[in-house]
Amino acid sequence: MPAMSVPPVAREPADAAERRGLRPVICYPVETLPQPDMTRIRAARVTARPGARVVVPPREAAAFRVPAGSFFRISCPEGAQVGDLNLFNAANPEERFFSGKTRALHGTHLTPGQRMWSNFPWLRPMATMVADTLAWYGTDAYGGRVHDVIGTRCDPYTHWLLSGGEMYHHCCHSNLTRALAAEGVAGAERLVHDVLNVFMCTGFTADTGQYFMKASPVRAGDHVEFLAEIDLLGVLSACPGGDCGAEHSSDAAVCHPLLVEVFETDPAALGGWWAPAAPNGYDRSHGM
Ligand SMILES: [Zn+2]
Repeated sequence: MPAMSVPPVAREPADAAERRGLRPVICYPVETLPQPDMTRIRAARVTARPGARVVVPPREAAAFRVPAGSFFRISCPEGAQVGDLNLFNAANPEERFFSGKTRALHGTHLTPGQRMWSNFPWLRPMATMVADTLAWYGTDAYGGRVHDVIGTRCDPYTHWLLSGGEMYHHCCHSNLTRALAAEGVAGAERLVHDVLNVFMCTGFTADTGQYFMKASPVRAGDHVEFLAEIDLLGVLSACPGGDCGAEHSSDAAVCHPLLVEVFETDPAALGGWWAPAAPNGYDRSHGM
């Protein structure tokens, strides 16, 4: 008779402490990434002219377009509200924001000077965060920070699973899908992607490592601004979670509108120091 197989047990080896004690190294040191010239970018922002304004109604999403070299501001005009942001190349919606690689490059939450990167094979800066009135928040006692690239977006599929079969149609995923479809983009749902959670305060719990949210510190008048590094189509959802202090995926939370304002520049006037981001230079042969 063969010995009865026993499920493996995760016993600590004798050198467990030594293994745990190894120092971490940063996966992607960013020192060699092309750096935005923040001094010149901020100077260009001062002379930019007010352009389009788009109001995003509560529990809905709206689309906006920003030419390369212009700026866009997302603000809370009336009260605390979290926004779920998707960005697309305006000329080709297959190129879109890559939350995972942005997180791997910059960390879990974005601050001014950091970029929103696009998916493969383009992998280039789509937008650079240039200002944030919540930059003072830093990291709170729970490990919470604002503007995360760790969440995905509230969606009706997860809600269906967790609620025992409820149908809810105003999750950010659905809002973004409707707004993108209204722009005439075919196959909108497939193109909706993991978001930048604008103003959302999130982290991972220290004990279980679970994704948490808490009421956003954003207040009426707060804003975050970006420079468009390529021609952008943006879609922004005013999350049904409102300030995301209690729950999302329902009509229970108090929700407010969001405002998107474009500030236009003449890219030629930006001078030779700025040009639209070029697609990634990898030859795509993959060694074949
Ligand atoms: Zn949401």
